[in-house]
Amino acid sequence: MFVFKFGGASVKSAGAVKNIVEILQRFQNEEIVVVVSAMGKTTNSLERIIECYAGKREEDLRDEYKQLKAYHLDIVNGLFEDKDHLVFANVNEVFEELFDRLTKEPTLNYDYDYDQLICYGELLSTTIISHFLNKSGVATRWMDIRRALKTDNNWREARVDWELSSHLVNEQFTFNGERILITQGFLASTINDQTTSLGREGSDYTAAILAFMLRAKSVTIWKDVPGVLNADPKYFDDTILLEKLSYLDAIELAYFGTSVIHPKTIKPLQNKNINLHVKSFVDPEAPGTLVGNLSYDKLTPSFIFKMDQVLIRTSPLDFSFINEDNLEEIFGILNKHGLKINMMQNSAISFQIIVNNNKRKLRLVVDELEEKYKVAYQTGLELVTIRYFDHSTIERVMINKELILEQRGVQNIELLIRDLG
Ligand code: ASP
Ligand code: MG
Repeated sequence: MFVFKFGGASVKSAGAVKNIVEILQRFQNEEIVVVVSAMGKTTNSLERIIECYAGKREEDLRDEYKQLKAYHLDIVNGLFEDKDHLVFANVNEVFEELFDRLTKEPTLNYDYDYDQLICYGELLSTTIISHFLNKSGVATRWMDIRRALKTDNNWREARVDWELSSHLVNEQFTFNGERILITQGFLASTINDQTTSLGREGSDYTAAILAFMLRAKSVTIWKDVPGVLNADPKYFDDTILLEKLSYLDAIELAYFGTSVIHPKTIKPLQNKNINLHVKSFVDPEAPGTLVGNLSYDKLTPSFIFKMDQVLIRTSPLDFSFINEDNLEEIFGILNKHGLKINMMQNSAISFQIIVNNNKRKLRLVVDELEEKYKVAYQTGLELVTIRYFDHSTIERVMINKELILEQRGVQNIELLIRDLG
């Protein structure tokens, strides 16, 4: 049994959905659990809808909802000539359920409401694709992941109950004559069946969790890129495809922000020694990247860029040294507002952290820090991580940049830099 994961880009249009059916038809004799994300940019659109809902901006909400519905109906129309096909009724039901929820009053818990609404992207994509697979002669069963994958109620970043979920997953994900079980990435639910989500881009993680629990032979993530590259083609035009990656290298690259693999994906696979393939859905014959228990001599330097970074410098108001109590307090404030640290550095009189420029969270954090510390911050910075760095790779990154902070490990270097224009 294999686990395949198809992300938003691979299901963003009728043509794209037809393409994944072709991919699945290549694996005639295999049972496959297929994990799917929401179509195209649907999750972003739902996030806007949720903002409107919470802010009671009804007109914007209606516009955004209409667009989302039209987008999905367009895809369904492109896939099904028979306008009496059951898929039309099913998709309408899902939209009606979403609409119903949107007419209810928001609760006081934004993150809870978020999870109850964000789930419709994946519910729609899997409903449409499962009907289309069956129509194309690929015997498929639609599975509601929320009946099997159980988490705590840490909304938007829920933590998996591995024992209970493993039991339920093995009970439910059985092949009874179907060749494909299709289910939603990113979603789960609490013991009380309230929907939760695993964090943005969490579908890769879902694929890894299911592979772990079902002891899959391998996982394949189908992408719009040829595999894991050593840099984002946005920033480099001579990127190199990393054909093989050890679990550790993959974890490190994902941790520092390689956007191709979700950081939580690798660990469960490594624990059961399950190979991960990252392959192109445009060119399914191409080998892509293999992540596994591998070793290699040639260490290709990889570059990870994070743009729009903010440096926050915190020092005690009484000019004393930064101590453990201060650190505990500072981490507590960051954690409370969910602002993640990309890099940190400590000196005697100040503690420096680098975070993404999330304006809302940043405001909350800085306001609270300012009650007890002197806070200074600098925006518009770039954070570059180089794994397997050397002198020439650093030089390449530093062209026309000013170095603000640097952190050097044995394998990795992180450079906080400012563009000189
Ligand atoms: N649809 C979700 C998102 O866009 C999950 C995923 O795509 O992995 O974040
Ligand atoms: Mg994704």
